[in-house]
Amino acid sequence: MDISKHLVGIKLDRQSSEPLYLQIAKVIENKIIDNTLPPATKLPPERELSSLFKVSRTTAINAYRWLEQQGLVITKVGSGTYVSEPPNNSNVTTQVPWSQLFIPYVQTPVSSILKELVSIPLDRDLISLATGMPDPSLYPIDKFKELLNRHIDHLERSSFGYIATEGFTPLRHSVSRMLNNKGIESTWGNTMILSGSQQGLYLMGKAMLAPGDYVVVESPTYTGAIQIFQAMGVKVLILPVSKIFPLDILEDFLIRYRPKIFYTNPTFRNPTGDVLSEGDRRQLINLAARHRLVVVEDDAYGDLYYGDNPPPSLKALDNYGGVVYLGTFSKVLMPGLRLGYINGHPTLIQRLALEKQYNDLHSNNISQWLMHLFLDEGHMEEHLSLIRRQYKNRRNLMIKALKHYFDDNILQYETPDGGFYIWCKIQNSVTSSKLLQESLKKGVFFAPGEAFYTMPSDDKEFRLSFASNSEDTLVEGIRRLSDAFNSASKTKSQRTKTNIRLDYLIN
Ligand code: PMP
Repeated sequence: MDISKHLVGIKLDRQSSEPLYLQIAKVIENKIIDNTLPPATKLPPERELSSLFKVSRTTAINAYRWLEQQGLVITKVGSGTYVSEPPNNSNVTTQVPWSQLFIPYVQTPVSSILKELVSIPLDRDLISLATGMPDPSLYPIDKFKELLNRHIDHLERSSFGYIATEGFTPLRHSVSRMLNNKGIESTWGNTMILSGSQQGLYLMGKAMLAPGDYVVVESPTYTGAIQIFQAMGVKVLILPVSKIFPLDILEDFLIRYRPKIFYTNPTFRNPTGDVLSEGDRRQLINLAARHRLVVVEDDAYGDLYYGDNPPPSLKALDNYGGVVYLGTFSKVLMPGLRLGYINGHPTLIQRLALEKQYNDLHSNNISQWLMHLFLDEGHMEEHLSLIRRQYKNRRNLMIKALKHYFDDNILQYETPDGGFYIWCKIQNSVTSSKLLQESLKKGVFFAPGEAFYTMPSDDKEFRLSFASNSEDTLVEGIRRLSDAFNSASKTKSQRTKTNIRLDYLIN
């Protein structure tokens, strides 16, 4: 892997009292910590490091020596300097039988599949087409910085203290106004701020589900939802995702099993990218109202449309008070804000607030305060227009690259009208785990379809994300993928162990 690109152009502060070797070492340390330089990455030779930072060779050697003392790198004689593997703590002796004390946990699809996959040499320049994350270069950092600078002196000190679990009141108001603009009848009182919408799913589970209860999900669906439901020990009923919503199957489930919750992500679904039509939405609401079914609508991607506006949300159509709406700022702004929101009946919100209080007294005030300013000053629309343009280009480019590198009769996919993902189905004998194995060798990876199912799938599907990479990287990623596809077509499928963690990259 050419890692010099991660170090090129970094300016040292030559006036600083901190020695140059330490400044260099800390740059590398940060990149090791944030996993830009993962374990086993080969670092540039000392001579190259000295020329990258325009320092003497001794300074470069001292930087590596410092990193070695911290246990962050190791030097292999005659080979070079490498990022250390994380320590294997299982060798540490303990009197406490930790693993016997844990309550049982469920192996979820991601934890069981991805940790089992292929072994690859790590000194590669990997392109991730797996990550469901916005591109950091599109984060509105300048605007957040400007808001912080302009308003920080007017912020009451008490705002840095504990606040209500339900959230920073001005933000609850501004989120509620935002929901009103989307046709959702909302007040600040039935809107709670979350530390990400994943938390909302967890709270719903904690408040409503006991082992043995039934839940309905679409299949495939968002991995994080599967993980939560499985961890809660509930029985998961699955509705196949198809062009026409399988209302009859849902009705059968409702009559036969009386499920507590139907979880759906109807707009630019993760992972399939498709949208539940307005007609189907209305019929679903009618059915749900008749059976007093709680519908959890996860709308993480609804604002990310690249053509016409999507149909109204289920919550906007809710005429019986049973739809619970989950939103997030992770996809449209920055996941690191850890801010999402939930809107539902006030009785539910009250109970969810209690559950939230048990594990997280409230979401971070500073994030909430900044988010409120961002919404209140009306910056969201401008930002959304910008990112919609960008992601639309990337979607088009990825589709073009797929068309260029893959035959239609080998790989099937549709152009999504929004969201982050292209869902692909392999039409020949290659399996998606074999393709992933070969892809990692070629320096690219994606989310295998199995991660989005509650039961083993036919291993022919995978999800590509066009959001997180620049246009050039996307095209290079697809080129590598087609290379991998050609190799996979020639070799036999087999699973071997991986030494890298992919699970956290997929959500
Ligand atoms: N729902 C869906 C459908 C998602 O794709 C994600 C993130 N990938 C989430 C919820 C959780 O996002 P967050 O907790 O960051 O709001």
